Amino acid sequence: MPIKLILLDADDTLWHNMRHFEAAEQAFADMIAPFAEAGIARSTLAAMEERNLELYGYGAKSFTLSMIEAAVELGGDALPVGGIRQILEAGRALLSHPVELLEGVGDTIEALAGLGDLVLLTKGELLHQEAKLAASGLGSSFASVEIVSDKRADTFRSLIARSGVEPHQAIMAGDSLRSDIVPALQAGAWAAFVPQALAWTHEQAAEPVDHDRYRRLQSLADLPALIEEIG
Ligand SMILES: [Mg+2]
Repeated sequence: MPIKLILLDADDTLWHNMRHFEAAEQAFADMIAPFAEAGIARSTLAAMEERNLELYGYGAKSFTLSMIEAAVELGGDALPVGGIRQILEAGRALLSHPVELLEGVGDTIEALAGLGDLVLLTKGELLHQEAKLAASGLGSSFASVEIVSDKRADTFRSLIARSGVEPHQAIMAGDSLRSDIVPALQAGAWAAFVPQALAWTHEQAAEPVDHDRYRRLQSLADLPALIEEIG
């Protein structure tokens, strides 16, 4: 049965994202260098982020708070206010960088829009994700846009049900095994993993290589052919 619903991740699937977090993390490590060596700085920040997800959710603002908390933990009362200012600047840069589409994404989106209902499914902060979508120029290609606090199997189940298709008529494509691939398969949909060079440890999961609805693609540009093959 052909695919009718095409769900796409946004960050690092349509446009660059991780490279900006990487730059912010480097700025954090440089700022905190008088108090901690880079490895400790990064692992403290990663642990802080993981701990804060439940309270703050995903996204740049939550990441900025985690940088401040990690700096306070590492620097203690000796932390200069200038350090906090540098973190806030890095956080602002994360929220305001220009949106750069991954190579070929514009043409791929056009091809996909002719194959089924195209839905953007992204987690993170509503305001920031909306701003990036607007800046991307891709908004009009999507039948709908879903900005959610997290992507779990139930997120996919309810979205697919609301779309009025059967789970096996839906496919999710994205760069995160944990958020895009595993829960989509659990919900009964197809899943296409498009790995990127920079990946956040938090988003890793075992690759479901033997699953019959799982495919690993070199590029999002391979998705239209996969959808036609499934159909
Ligand atoms: Mg992503």
